[in-house]
Amino acid sequence: MGVKGKMDKRRLFIVVVILIVVAGVLSYVAINNSSNSNLNGKIGVGVSIGPEVEWVNAVGGDKVHVTLMVPEGSDPHTYEPLPNQLTQVSNAKMYVEIGSPLEFETNYMDKIKSANPNMLIVNASEGIQLIPNAAENESTTMDPHDWVDPKNAMIMVNNIYNGLVQVDPADKDYFQKNRDIYMAQLKQLDENTTKILKDKNGTDILVYHPAFGYYAKDYNLTQVGAMLNDEEPSPQRIAMMVNIAKQNNITVLYNEPQYDPKFMQSIASQVGGQVLTVNDLDEHYIQNMINVANAFAKA
Ligand SMILES: [Zn+2]
Repeated sequence: MGVKGKMDKRRLFIVVVILIVVAGVLSYVAINNSSNSNLNGKIGVGVSIGPEVEWVNAVGGDKVHVTLMVPEGSDPHTYEPLPNQLTQVSNAKMYVEIGSPLEFETNYMDKIKSANPNMLIVNASEGIQLIPNAAENESTTMDPHDWVDPKNAMIMVNNIYNGLVQVDPADKDYFQKNRDIYMAQLKQLDENTTKILKDKNGTDILVYHPAFGYYAKDYNLTQVGAMLNDEEPSPQRIAMMVNIAKQNNITVLYNEPQYDPKFMQSIASQVGGQVLTVNDLDEHYIQNMINVANAFAKA
């Protein structure tokens, strides 16, 4: 073996070392990428509507990454999931459906489930007594808006807790501590709501979209909705609302941000009143529900 043979061996050695280093770097990058699509080790949780974002984050803390399907300002009675939202859900470990007959879910849960058949589906409404829709109000038999109620929220948050424990039993204590802190805040919200609305016994609340049936039942209000079967109200319906307002000296009316305020403004202008905004889909649940109570206290 001459000098050339030795040089060849050295070259071969260097090439092998380079190959090993490159392979190492590539596999490091690959592992890192897969943990990125795996949400940096966080538990991916899909939810349908805004209030669930606060609830899942409250219980899951820094262990969860939440994907919201119906974005703020959109209507869960009509919204369709986008292809990239279905891709995001395909990385999730758990999906929290509201579980009441909400059109977004009655129409698209099958599609969401088939995007990720291994995902745990948590029914947030398990244990909640659904109430019938006022027959003239919406197209479904039972009222879907059960989340717009602090007492129901407590049941829903506990169902979320049970789901998180099921997908990540090792962090049970952490979830339990978080749940208890948030439950205390919901209890406070319930007590504050009762206080804020204590003089409103039986008061008519004139809303555009009837999302406050459970709320009205629990805090002794009477909800009157302008929308009929999820459709814009007719001139006759508006006239009826004007009459109710006049007969009961009502000058404060309510609209939700996802709907055109022109109908409630028309009623308000005919009774010399004003329209306030109330939201049933805000991602900041507790703060929003206090805003709702303060708004209804002005009725
Ligand atoms: Zn609704």
